[in-house]
Amino acid sequence: MSKIPPPFRIGHGYDLHRLEPIAPDGSGRPFVLGGLAFEHDRGPVGHSDGDALLHAITDALLGALGEEDIGQLFPDTDPTHDGADSRRFLDAARRRVDEAGFEIGNLDATVILERPKIGPRKQELRLQLATLLDVDPNRVNLKGKTHEKVDAVGEGRAIEVHVIVLLCRRDEPSTG
Ligand code: MG
Repeated sequence: MSKIPPPFRIGHGYDLHRLEPIAPDGSGRPFVLGGLAFEHDRGPVGHSDGDALLHAITDALLGALGEEDIGQLFPDTDPTHDGADSRRFLDAARRRVDEAGFEIGNLDATVILERPKIGPRKQELRLQLATLLDVDPNRVNLKGKTHEKVDAVGEGRAIEVHVIVLLCRRDEPSTG
């Protein structure tokens, strides 16, 4: 077995949040995705701001590093995370990637959602993710799909996100 650490690590992240009418009609929080606000009459139910895209990306980064997942690092029993901006979780994962000597090679996300439609804001979302991750936008890809009106996601009662990320070991500057 080789003792040389691999130059690449792959990570997978998944998240699902229930979508409910926005408070006070229901327990949904204002709809936020990738740190961007979307106009919608329903929003994610969650302990934090419920940003499923940022949660899945955070878990993909942590998974690639082989570290504890988002639920273990930021437990929903901790009142300091109530309504938390999920960019905080992503930033913590991004710093861990950096500290481990890796950078994001590329990231591919699939958002499965009936409404609101993300198509018109896909490019904006992609640029936003690239900014949050501090990488060139060509390393980030985002796809939107519906669930063909079946099951909870298709009936607009939930949002689902899948993410894969490839981490590449950074070339350390030569000390000689
Ligand atoms: Mg979540």
